[in-house]
Amino acid sequence: MIIVPLGVASATPTATRHLASVALWREGEIHLFDCGENAQMRMLQAGLKRSKIENIFISHFDVDHYSGLIGLLSTLQLQRREKPLTIVGPKGIKKYVEWNFKFANIDLNFKINYKEVSEDFEVDRVIDHDDYYVEVRPLNHTKFCMGFRFQEKDKPGKVDAVKAEKLGISEDAQYKALKAGEDVELEDGTIIKSYDIVGHPRPGDSFAYITDTKYCPNSVKLAMNTNILYHEATFSESLADKAAETGHSTSIDAARVANEAQTKLLVIGHFSARYTNPFVLLREAREKFFPAWLATELRPIYTDPAQEKGIVQQKVYIKEIDDSQGKSSGPSRSKRGSDDKQKRFRKRKGSPSRGSSDRGSSRGSGGGSRGRREEYPERRKKRSDSPRRDQDNNDHNQGTSRPPKHITPRTPFDDFDRF
Ligand SMILES: [Zn+2]
Repeated sequence: MIIVPLGVASATPTATRHLASVALWREGEIHLFDCGENAQMRMLQAGLKRSKIENIFISHFDVDHYSGLIGLLSTLQLQRREKPLTIVGPKGIKKYVEWNFKFANIDLNFKINYKEVSEDFEVDRVIDHDDYYVEVRPLNHTKFCMGFRFQEKDKPGKVDAVKAEKLGISEDAQYKALKAGEDVELEDGTIIKSYDIVGHPRPGDSFAYITDTKYCPNSVKLAMNTNILYHEATFSESLADKAAETGHSTSIDAARVANEAQTKLLVIGHFSARYTNPFVLLREAREKFFPAWLATELRPIYTDPAQEKGIVQQKVYIKEIDDSQGKSSGPSRSKRGSDDKQKRFRKRKGSPSRGSSDRGSSRGSGGGSRGRREEYPERRKKRSDSPRRDQDNNDHNQGTSRPPKHITPRTPFDDFDRF
């Protein structure tokens, strides 16, 4: 399984974070947990096909958790989807979706199976597939909200092919039968026992999605022994009062659930907009539980990295927040970049008339080199705003071969020339 956070903001989106949504990729199918505004765009950017969605799970009716649902369904309609879709949500989700399409006079050409969950329940298995099931439990928020556990069923044990061959097994059908737990009779009448050849069943992978809740025992039950626990950490411990008041968790609460549930990996998300640097939250969580990670939008997390690496092809790459990274990102590209810059500097040296004062006007006339076009827009702006610094930079550049300073990208898109 691969988990791809699509939106890690809480309540309001920020310049860099989108509203709540997490995609789970498994065997070519996608299961979507919450569907905030922009979820379908983030799927596109993550390289996840919207047509592969099997189930959509809506945790509760805070608008930021389902505001992208109608848009996404409308896209599926335009893509001429025919395959049925399952939507799991609190009671009322069916009415909401149907009203919207009735209002727009759209007759959906695919069937939606609704699984509505009412408030009074302890635990419910909302999906029961041959290979996996999904369990829900109520959480503790200001309104009815539920958490999810996606559990793969146990996989059959590994077949000892060498041993099987020695015993005379040769056909695919025989292997299949042995794997399914059946004994096989050979032509000479020998019976090969399944348990002699097949190892112990392997436990399936699991994922828990717990958001918009205070600490509660049900979170621990859902997350028990999971491979990955995605838990909200809206606030830091210094705002524990606010977390309690609004029905949210702090990063310490998230770590507490992870500890009690003995999850293998804690991923925190759903950050309040006040944290421009969510590493504050990660540091707190890590003091209590390890391994803990920050959910980073579009960055996939593998339950089994050895097997599944490379399946999801990300279309938008995240630039590391690290100065040196830019220089070593790609050997050919960075070399070409620095060559360009050197050329540029040499040219300046040879033509003193192109000083800092007239560079502003020459920029618009298409005189910029490829190197210049690659610069970040922010940097360009800064230069033209402060001629003195510009002069300083110029001196440095002429005197030494020190490369220009890199800015820290704020979003994965800062690498693009989009203005
Ligand atoms: Zn929320």
